[in-house]
Amino acid sequence: MTEQTAEALPTASTSHVSKYTRNQPYLSEVLVNERLTGPDSEKETIHVELALEDGMTYTPGDAVGIIPTNRDVVVEGVLKALGFTGSERVLDHYKVEISLDEAVRTRLAIGKLARGSVNQFAKLCGENAPAGLKALLGVDNKAAAEEYVWGREFVDLITDFPGIITDPQQLFNILQRLTPRMYSIASSQDAHPGQVHTTVRVVRYNSHGADRQGVCSGHLGERCQVGKVMPIFLHENNAFRLPEDTSAPVVMIGPGTGIAPFRSFLEHRQVHGEPGRNWLFFGEQRSISDYLYKDQFAEMQKQGVLTRLHTAFSRDHLKKVYVQDRMQENAAELFEWLETGAYFYVCGDATRMAKDVETALLDVIAKGSKGTLEYAAEYLAAMKKQKRYQRDVY
Ligand code: NAP
Repeated sequence: MTEQTAEALPTASTSHVSKYTRNQPYLSEVLVNERLTGPDSEKETIHVELALEDGMTYTPGDAVGIIPTNRDVVVEGVLKALGFTGSERVLDHYKVEISLDEAVRTRLAIGKLARGSVNQFAKLCGENAPAGLKALLGVDNKAAAEEYVWGREFVDLITDFPGIITDPQQLFNILQRLTPRMYSIASSQDAHPGQVHTTVRVVRYNSHGADRQGVCSGHLGERCQVGKVMPIFLHENNAFRLPEDTSAPVVMIGPGTGIAPFRSFLEHRQVHGEPGRNWLFFGEQRSISDYLYKDQFAEMQKQGVLTRLHTAFSRDHLKKVYVQDRMQENAAELFEWLETGAYFYVCGDATRMAKDVETALLDVIAKGSKGTLEYAAEYLAAMKKQKRYQRDVY
């Protein structure tokens, strides 16, 4: 629900000003942390609302940077495997003295093991690396090293090859820095003053006999309950913006957590009373458990903000149905929208979905224009030039 009237609102701005950065983050309170997916879902997708200080502003399309901390159980596992107590003193990346516990918890990437970390770790042994470790080094053993790091974390390396780290400071040469994760913003600030929302799939899996979590999604899913405070900052993304012409139609393709920026776009257009037509394609596994923001989109449809809404629930059918299938089914109308100047946006999975959606889009253009695929590629290139084809894929 919106909390301001259109007349009272400032015009959409494309930049934000904030004194907070990834190096000097804002300590934000968690206002809401709720599961969007049903109990039977194969996914745990959550909606998180965070407090902002006056003066922290963002534009739909921007991201929120979240600085995670490592899981207690993993931190303890690392300290135990190293034989340290955690009270040892080390210098952080800025040469500030902190405890080893704090370093492992908040500064070092002890999650997914990187091949580079294995190499740096082995360097500590000089010529005396154990045979098992030697078998992971050098170009000839690249495949073996890749197989080893897959599904493993730093704690596995120091458990498999104990006693190699003798000085806690060595960890800073072996491990990458724990970096913030960027999440597409799912809210319009004009609809939710003083807040920023995001949509996150919590990654949990079991590998090599241990339960694991995504570093930041696990942090949000497990350790960021309402009332907790965590470091965040806002990240501008000028490459993903609503059209300046508020009457231009927009088409949004947002399966899974790719829905996030489109909730932001739609809230923005709703709260500003922008006249442009809006068409959303959303895809997930099952309608019963995975229809993210279902009620809100139904309300937007009722109010006429959401002109067209197509869903593709891949596992509700014997044969999988994806967002690009819905595009194909509505090809003529979709091409008509493009011909009237529609902006086309894609957000979500980069590896397969975004490519398949682009292939479908080229097909829609070719069919609609009764042209060749070469002509469709030129048409899409022209759309890109006019900033009418924008993607935020990961
Ligand atoms: P997702 O994996 O993209 O799944 C959403 C829907 O897209 C499902 O119905 C899925 O169907 C379908 N799909 C699968 N392949 C497709 C294709 N080639 N074209 C079109 N649709 C396709 O959604 P998500 O789980 O929300 O993940 C979205 C992206 O975020 C992915 O890139 C994922 O790797 C990344 N990610 C995000 C987080 C996070 O937010 N913390 C964590 C991990 C990964 P089926 O599954 O039935 O095939």
